[in-house]
Amino acid sequence: MIAELKQIRLQEIVSRWEPHAEAEFRGFRCGRCDEPLLEGAYHHLLDSSGYLVWVHLCGHCDRTFKTEPDSELEIVPGISREHFHPFFSKYAETVLDRIAARWNPAARTGFGEFTCDLCGAPLSTMRDRHPNFPTMARGWHVWRNKNGVLIEYHFCSASWEHLLKL
Ligand SMILES: [Zn+2]
Ligand SMILES: [Zn+2]
Repeated sequence: MIAELKQIRLQEIVSRWEPHAEAEFRGFRCGRCDEPLLEGAYHHLLDSSGYLVWVHLCGHCDRTFKTEPDSELEIVPGISREHFHPFFSKYAETVLDRIAARWNPAARTGFGEFTCDLCGAPLSTMRDRHPNFPTMARGWHVWRNKNGVLIEYHFCSASWEHLLKL
C-alpha cells in the first residue's frame, strides 16, 4: 500500500474516535471494530493531518484495512482540539517530545504487543486488575495537544504517575 493512501485510511479510522482530554486507564481495543485486544495488535502510525497517533488493529481489520476499496473511505469532520490543552510541566513536555520523536513506523511492522511509551513495560500484565474484562491489555491512554497536533501516548501506571510529578 502506498504511504499516502495508508495515511488517508488511518485518518478515516481515527476521525471516528472520540478521544478524551482527560487521561484514561482502560483496555486496548481495535481502532476500527472495537474488539478487545490482549496480546497485541497490528500497529500503524498516523502521522499527518494534525495527528501523531498509533492505530491498533485486530488481525481481521488489519487485513481489511489493506484491501478495502478507496470508495469506502470517508473522513468524519475532525474533533475539537481546544479541549486538549497542554498541561504538563516544561520538563515533562521535553520527555514527551523525545518519546514521540523516536516513533518509527518502519521499525514496528506486523503484530506487536502493547508496551509503555516511557519504560517499555508490556501492558498485557495489567489485565488481572479488571476481573470483568480478563482478556484486555490495559494502560493509561493520554492525549496531548502539541502546537495543534494531537499525540496519543500509552503508559503503565508507574510511568504515568512519574510523568505527573516531573
Ligand atoms: Zn478490528
Ligand atoms: Zn511504564
